[in-house]
Amino acid sequence: MSSAIAPLLEKAVDGERLTPEEGLRLIESHDLTALGRAADAVTRRLHPEPYRTSNIDRNVNYTNECAAVCDFCAFYRPPGHEEVYVLPREVLYQKIEETVALGGDQILMQGGLHAKLPLEWYEELLSDIKTRFPQVNIHGFSPPEIHHFTKVSKQPLRVVLERLKQAGLGSLPGGGAEILVDRVRKEITRGKVLTEDWLNVNRVWHEMGGRSSATMMFGHVETLAERIEHLDRLRQLQDETGGFTAFICWTFQPDHTALSHIPPAGAFEYLKTQAVGRLYLDNIPNIQSSWVTQGEKIGQLALYFGANDMGSLMIEENVVAQAGTVYHLSLSTIRRSIEELGYIPRQRNVFYQYIDGE
Ligand code: SF4
Repeated sequence: MSSAIAPLLEKAVDGERLTPEEGLRLIESHDLTALGRAADAVTRRLHPEPYRTSNIDRNVNYTNECAAVCDFCAFYRPPGHEEVYVLPREVLYQKIEETVALGGDQILMQGGLHAKLPLEWYEELLSDIKTRFPQVNIHGFSPPEIHHFTKVSKQPLRVVLERLKQAGLGSLPGGGAEILVDRVRKEITRGKVLTEDWLNVNRVWHEMGGRSSATMMFGHVETLAERIEHLDRLRQLQDETGGFTAFICWTFQPDHTALSHIPPAGAFEYLKTQAVGRLYLDNIPNIQSSWVTQGEKIGQLALYFGANDMGSLMIEENVVAQAGTVYHLSLSTIRRSIEELGYIPRQRNVFYQYIDGE
């Protein structure tokens, strides 16, 4: 390595932890090739197996009503808006049936922050689904929703999580993290969970034995130092609990949002940030490529820039789709993307266990 950042990259490749200052130096670098090679070396050390994975699930957005206002969101409708919906059960069941028929084992169930639905409504939703589809994992309710449920129900966080778990909640998606720095959150969201509470939802869920994923949406109003601060907060919590299964990052999609004047971050920024994520997050085992926002080609290349997983074959995706850019890949395209890189594709569940019986 002849690059100016070579000593830092060697350190990370050897499994030594990077400091926030070192993380910042890496993300400020433009040496994408060196960052990618180092991230790939770390991925191969953590995942020497000849497989790269994906899973099959479906996004189910049970409501688009949202009491919060996020400038980057084109999906939500405020309470009382004529386009507000709450998904009827028959529609929901049909979506799950289709998912199961395609070999899916899970639904990713998220919504806006509905102003009125009581906690009992969510409990009933979970138990109705589990009664009909006991084999399907409900990967549901991102930390902002869980935090919102504590406000609506006036119940402590642990009680809310225990009641939802009892009703059938399987794992938590890491959505709504954006950038875990309150300066950024206050600039782009109103009425939505701040950093400490986002982390605390995960902390308590992990303490209960639960697992969740961690995400980052970048390329809007944050600085590079704030991206590193975000990674550092995740790393600190993971040291405490070990409950994050994976990290997924993607670039902000500006179309049809209140931030549409911000030019979209491109492939260079995406690959660089993900590579730094792999180098920095030495305690999170898996990184998912975000082909939904980056497309097939960059999504495939991401497997050489720190990712070891292609994420989900998402049968339906509404949230990013509302903001313009969304890519659909078939299962055969995902498998081919993995094979072209010299790996064997395998299907996994949310806990990264192989479920294809091969
Ligand atoms: S991102 Fe989530 S919390 Fe924010 S407005 Fe959209 S639906 Fe509501």
